[in-house]
Amino acid sequence: MRGGSVAVVGGSIAGSAFAGAAARLGAERVVVLERSPGHLEDRGVGLCTHNDRFDELVRAGHLDADTRRHRLTVRRWVARGAAGEGDGPDGCGRLLWAQPFPFHSHHWGVLWQALRERMPEQVEFRLGATVTAVGNEPRGGEPDGGGSEGPQAEPDGTRAEAGGAWVETDGGRETYDLVIGADGYRSVVREAVCPQAEPEYAGYVCWRGSYDAALLAELPGGAAPWPEEQCITACYPGGQVVIYRIPGVAPGRTQVNWVFYAPTPAWLRLDGPTSIPAGSLTDPQVDELRRLAERYLPPYWAGLVTLTPRERTFLQPVYDLAAPARTAGRLLIGGDAATVVRPHNTSGAVKAIQDAHAFELAGREAGSWAALLAAYDRERTAAGRELVELGRTLGRAQVTAAPDWSGMDEPAMTAWWHHQFTGGGGFGGHALGRTD
Ligand SMILES: Cc1cc2nc3c(=O)[nH]c(=O)nc-3n(C[C@H](O)[C@H](O)[C@H](O)COP(=O)(O)OP(=O)(O)OC[C@H]3O[C@@H](n4cnc5c(N)ncnc54)[C@H](O)[C@@H]3O)c2cc1C
Repeated sequence: MRGGSVAVVGGSIAGSAFAGAAARLGAERVVVLERSPGHLEDRGVGLCTHNDRFDELVRAGHLDADTRRHRLTVRRWVARGAAGEGDGPDGCGRLLWAQPFPFHSHHWGVLWQALRERMPEQVEFRLGATVTAVGNEPRGGEPDGGGSEGPQAEPDGTRAEAGGAWVETDGGRETYDLVIGADGYRSVVREAVCPQAEPEYAGYVCWRGSYDAALLAELPGGAAPWPEEQCITACYPGGQVVIYRIPGVAPGRTQVNWVFYAPTPAWLRLDGPTSIPAGSLTDPQVDELRRLAERYLPPYWAGLVTLTPRERTFLQPVYDLAAPARTAGRLLIGGDAATVVRPHNTSGAVKAIQDAHAFELAGREAGSWAALLAAYDRERTAAGRELVELGRTLGRAQVTAAPDWSGMDEPAMTAWWHHQFTGGGGFGGHALGRTD
């Protein structure tokens, strides 16, 4: 499948990967429409990728092997000692399990920058371009050519299909051969592809924060109790906090990153999918987090969380979403626009880039847009659904129906962990091109 014009709505991880894939497929024109006016690289959140999944994406040409990232080798599951005792001399808590953890952590902005640097030059990246609506171009008597589309067969069997899709921004309406929705969990493109699919609230939230690791010097013991390659999961009744270092935006710097799973705060309004960005939480709201940390976490980790500046603290409710279809006419969705997997599975970025990879493979083999779209839909809809289900299982086991941590030790933890994967793997994402 070569030639044609492609618009990608959203220029984040999924959008950058799809734009690169479309350009490599030979699209004549690729335009990324990104709502944010600039400095996407400043989005200071951490995420992790499994080493095997990362290496596959390097071999497939989507990432550079030397993308700056932070090596993790072990995940230490800890909990507060009985009656506040037994947290150890360093205050790090009682060790439940030291789990091998073959992952690297990333700064979102550094990973995004690496994807952008690989993007072929012909991709036009428009910042500050908010897409307000999308749709299929009418075809042969249909008012809005949504739904399935058949190619208009040419005698030579090549690409001469009717149709296209439009995007609307405040600059007006433009038509493309294909519109890709990589616009995240509140996707405008998904509304046109499958309007009934909405993110479902999982019943708990993630408080999140990050800051320069130099600040750790303010803790008793400084950074010493926490070796660089350790990911920490501090468990408490009602949730857990996952803590790991990530690269700083500037080379040579390191940041602390944490994700604190917790019950829904009473003040949070959930009329629709939402999040509270950094800088928007009030002092009383952040005090609530502080109280939670001080009450439940081993002292060292409580101190690490409460060191976070208010303006670097934010909140994301946890959602599940598995769109029942990924394409309609000349519209396609990928990344979080199509599936939102709970973060316990540490697979979101990998899943988004794998979506773009599946699109590229389908495009190499397809002789028409319709064939490309059908192959992509087949390949990725089921894969997304499986990951969402796994995320739900992990969320139940680790947060909403977590065990009594006071009774857990290494044998109990390993049995509990393996039970979560009964019926399949997928922690950190599925292998690229698996056939099971
Ligand atoms: C708490 C938490 C922890 C996570 N941890 C991990 C982890 O450890 N490992 C991992 O791999 N993943 C993790 N993820 C998930 C991961 O961050 C995402 O799955 C991944 O980045 C893919 O996102 P995306 O590009 O599809 O969407 P997004 O990052 O949401 O990007 C959507 C883009 O579209 C733009 N946009 C939206 N609407 C419009 C519009 N109308 N017009 C134009 N532009 C628009 C937005 O500005 C944005 O740039 C985590 C997520 C959360 C919430």
